[in-house]
Amino acid sequence: MDMCHYCGYPMENIHRITLYKENEEVNELLCKECYVEWLESIKG
Ligand SMILES: [Zn+2]
Repeated sequence: MDMCHYCGYPMENIHRITLYKENEEVNELLCKECYVEWLESIKG
């Protein structure tokens, strides 16, 4: 089972996000809670 990139907990519902690190696209997997937090963080 996939694990959340942030909290490390195995989740059934995974959200895929794309981060930009040093001009490279990095795909990460987040659980729902971390995904919501990430969305809030990019809103500013
Ligand atoms: Zn998480």
